[in-house]
Amino acid sequence: LVSRKRQPENTIVQINDVEIGNGKPAFVFGPCAVESLEQTAAVATKIKSKGLQLMRGGAFKPRTSPYDFQGLGVEGLEILDTVRKQSGLGVISEIVSPVDVEIACENIDVIQIGARNMQNFELLKAVGKTNKPVLLKRGLAATIDEFIHAAEYILAQGNPNVILCERGIRTYEKATRNTLDLSAVPILKQETHLPVMVDVTHSTGRKDIMLPCAKAALAVGADGVMAEVHPDPAVALSDSAQQMNFEEFDAFWSELESFSQK
Ligand code: PEP
Ligand code: MN
Repeated sequence: LVSRKRQPENTIVQINDVEIGNGKPAFVFGPCAVESLEQTAAVATKIKSKGLQLMRGGAFKPRTSPYDFQGLGVEGLEILDTVRKQSGLGVISEIVSPVDVEIACENIDVIQIGARNMQNFELLKAVGKTNKPVLLKRGLAATIDEFIHAAEYILAQGNPNVILCERGIRTYEKATRNTLDLSAVPILKQETHLPVMVDVTHSTGRKDIMLPCAKAALAVGADGVMAEVHPDPAVALSDSAQQMNFEEFDAFWSELESFSQK
């Protein structure tokens, strides 16, 4: 069902007024994790000040260590609901279990399936039974073929609103957090009709190269870029080193704005 041969036209995923996949890049910024209403609302205000319409923020955080901050869970989704109502932004957040699909549908606009859950087939089937837009991230060590098949699970249940997201894969290279596989973008665009975004934060893990990587992603045909922004990254409860502060975000955005549909 995801195959370009079967459906030659691009799928456009609508999130409020934003059309992902319409040929004009879309941008998703926001904190790694929802930490409080104040923190989330501060980022929303910043995003709105740029005329942008989408925000991310993790409520369920699947962390490498069980002792690290695991996210606010349902409370985090409720904070996002409050902030989206106040700001009018479309919000994107990850869930990690099929039991949370219903509450996610009530509180957020796009359900993210993170890299660690790309092959959580019961979760894929559960979001496939809804009509919510889904942002599906590539697994940590998933081939493009496995990634495409994961998306197929969602469409096979009847939900066509899937956005693919390249977020770097594990290789021997240590200079970046993961290796951003930019070649995946044109391959995914050729093989499927789904929109493709690139997460420059979790792929590179390096604020000093996020801007050129974002430009490169757009140059190879990405339908959008995601990056993390936090009001005070030094005290962030997750991904402290790689979230942009507002000043860094201002500089980043000033270089990308001309590409945007906002
Ligand atoms: C995220 O986007 O919050 C995240 C944890 O990313 P990934 O699943 O790609 O590691
Ligand atoms: Mn993060």
